[in-house]
Amino acid sequence: MRAEGIETARRILCVFPRYTSSFGTFEYAYPLTDGVQAFMPPQGLLLIAAYLPENWPVRFVDENIRPATKEDFEWAEAVFVSGMHIQRQQMNDICRRAHAFDLAVAIGGPSVSACPDYYPSFDYLHVGELGDATNDLIARLARDPSRPEQQVVLKTADRLPMTEFPLPAYEMAEMKKYFLGSIQYSSGCPYQCEFCDIPGLYGRNPRLKTPEQIITELDKLRECGVTGSVYFVDDNFIGNRKAALDLLPHLVEWQKRTGYVMRLACEATLNIAKRPEILEKMREAFFVTVFCGIETPDPDALKAMHKDHNMMVPILEGIRTINSYGMEVVSGIIMGLDTDKPETGDALLQFVDETQIPLLTINLLQALPKTPLWDRLERDGRLVNDDDGRDSNVEFLLPYDQVVKSWRKCMEVAYQPEKLFARYQYQCDYTYPKRIKVPVSPEQKSWANIRRGLIMLKNIFWKVGVLGDYKRVFWKFALGRLRHGDIEGLIASSLLAHHLIMFARAASVGQQNASNYSIRLREASVPAE
Ligand code: SF4
Repeated sequence: MRAEGIETARRILCVFPRYTSSFGTFEYAYPLTDGVQAFMPPQGLLLIAAYLPENWPVRFVDENIRPATKEDFEWAEAVFVSGMHIQRQQMNDICRRAHAFDLAVAIGGPSVSACPDYYPSFDYLHVGELGDATNDLIARLARDPSRPEQQVVLKTADRLPMTEFPLPAYEMAEMKKYFLGSIQYSSGCPYQCEFCDIPGLYGRNPRLKTPEQIITELDKLRECGVTGSVYFVDDNFIGNRKAALDLLPHLVEWQKRTGYVMRLACEATLNIAKRPEILEKMREAFFVTVFCGIETPDPDALKAMHKDHNMMVPILEGIRTINSYGMEVVSGIIMGLDTDKPETGDALLQFVDETQIPLLTINLLQALPKTPLWDRLERDGRLVNDDDGRDSNVEFLLPYDQVVKSWRKCMEVAYQPEKLFARYQYQCDYTYPKRIKVPVSPEQKSWANIRRGLIMLKNIFWKVGVLGDYKRVFWKFALGRLRHGDIEGLIASSLLAHHLIMFARAASVGQQNASNYSIRLREASVPAE
């Protein structure tokens, strides 16, 4: 549903800020594609765009694709911005530019909801999820779009049920320019990992859309030209297991109807490995990737961070189980924990070798506001300012330089091309063959899609296979894929591998931030806006 009963129309410019370069946004892969410029369409801002009254003209600009222009600001009567902590500077910069045109600027989303203090210049702070605060904001702008004399803070007390969310305005985004499509079924997570802000922001009892809403959204994504991978940005896809089981048959049915046009991915806790009934249905629905926040292979560390649920099955066994349903595991890893020892880095590298997980986002611990970790470190006087060149706001128990050095070494070693492609080869040999055999969909057979694939192949062969400095390793892997006729797999693995190798190289010499939190993909899901 939309906001209703508002007569006066206002022109709203929705601007999504640029991401800082990060492990999880795959920007090193973009030059190998046919024009991808951004990671995922921002769910939250597209949701707000759809929620605004029907008679309000809306423009959506993702600054990862193009900057908002003078003409955009001159057109608008008010500006809406949203984003995550890592986009804080960019959000404040959008506000400054909008104010140059004397426009009122409202900010919503996870960052302002957790930390209103970060945004003193904005005219309206929308704190919390879509709901009564959103209606209040719309009503105020309808009455008077000019800048209020003082900042107005609007807090959602009454949230709009997700079953009443409108379809996100996917049609406003240039879908072809995104690396992945995104969709959201639930919000919130029942667990309480010490470092995580999800339960604090979105609650422990996951809120849900209906399966019918998801099917309508998938249809719309397809209409908007999405044919590749679609990521469920839910905080935890099995946060409500019954809901996951309710949805999956609908997804299977949809995939059958459309010829398996999309490859699906999600985030879920590792204890999904104990749920064969869910895994089997996910396999049938063509889920191909699951992001699991493994965080650390150290049981003491898992206990200390209240992530015991990761130990419900032995970690290695859990990963193998998920792999056996054709799903590759992507893992989040945290270094700099209080339980870390000097030998933690080596143990981690051994873990990477054992698990054969190609993609692990290895980040330094960062204390996020509104988390139990933040509260504990604040009490202990261990929060430090990370603005002045530090890679984390946590005073580690081990010396800072030692932790950063260990992180850099892990990045350097884990993403050596030989090691990374060996892990992809393992997935090709043991995980991918477990996937269901899907027909070639009409979209895949289309000339546009074939042309897209050819452009990517040409770029990969030229930029990696001819000009690249790891071409020997690349060709060994690529020829194997070509022999199997697996062009799609070749393209997908090569794109990701190239990003990981280049990012890790920059990171290992200190050119990338060690605590970038952006791969925690829930940040792209912004029900709070
Ligand atoms: S880290 Fe994952 S499992 Fe833990 S509370 Fe956050 S969303 Fe839930």
